[in-house]
Amino acid sequence: MIWGTGLPGSTGWPGRDDMNAGTAIAIDLGGTQLRVALVEGNRILDRAATATEPTTGPEALFDRIDRMIDRLCGGRALSEFAGVGMCCAGPINTDTATATQIPTLPGLDDVRLGAELSRRTDLPVRIENDGIAAALGEWRHGAGRGARNMLYLTVSTGIGGGAVIDGRLLRGHRGIAGHIGHMKMTPDGPVCSCGATGCFEALAAGSALTQRAMAALQTADSPYLAGAAHDGVVDARDVFSGARAGDAHCCHLVAEEAMYLGQGITSAIHMFSPERVVLGGGVANGFDLLEEGIHAVIRRDALVPFRTVPVVMAALGDDSGLMGAASLILDPQDM
Ligand SMILES: [Zn+2]
Repeated sequence: MIWGTGLPGSTGWPGRDDMNAGTAIAIDLGGTQLRVALVEGNRILDRAATATEPTTGPEALFDRIDRMIDRLCGGRALSEFAGVGMCCAGPINTDTATATQIPTLPGLDDVRLGAELSRRTDLPVRIENDGIAAALGEWRHGAGRGARNMLYLTVSTGIGGGAVIDGRLLRGHRGIAGHIGHMKMTPDGPVCSCGATGCFEALAAGSALTQRAMAALQTADSPYLAGAAHDGVVDARDVFSGARAGDAHCCHLVAEEAMYLGQGITSAIHMFSPERVVLGGGVANGFDLLEEGIHAVIRRDALVPFRTVPVVMAALGDDSGLMGAASLILDPQDM
């Protein structure tokens, strides 16, 4: 769905060549951080970031976005830009681009994000769920390039994702496909952010690894974590550092994390049949430690034709979503 006026041509979109020549305003609206960038082709020209603070309400949020855009544009007229692409914490119904009960964006209920952005900028606006946008970014410009079928996972505080199937971005009903973190793994596992128990996210997200690290701190199982703790707190990064330093319990926690990731990815491979799985998010910082364990589970548990599907690290880091948001405007073909 496209919001906005002044779109040339009856289809609402200029030709591909025209679009690729332009510069897009990309917005990544996350629960914690609000990031805005100017993107041309596969390059981020300039960027700005601030706290999202969704509870301050929609007017304050849109005013912040306006100021960030003004600063980045540096006097250029908004009409010089090809459009605004936004990736948004979800699940957001992209048929209406209205924020409704998004857990990480309280205070924005029933806000018409697409219509309001378009009204303020007078530019075409496209909005995508963050996991799907990040999949698009990696597909166009990162570790998914050249694949007709790929699955993207972001593993950080939660687990999100997106898929490209038969050369098209998978959106699904309401544009919310790919919420892979809420795949049920076990009937009685830990409680998930969604309120259910035993979701993939509750077992394998960075926050789950952090919880296991905190438990190890309490039981004094890891000399490394005991030394790394600040004010009695450790997190997933400390576990990776400890494993690199040879701490036996940190190595155990990494192996356990790889097992959970491997199990979830194996299930997803059977559903989507990707030729490649791209892993992003904060936990991908430990990819070198995790990849062998993940692949071991896939080789052990997957049906034979799926056993050789490679899992690779995302190439764009924190920028997968921003680049995908820009692609919504700059390269909308075949999506
Ligand atoms: Zn869940």
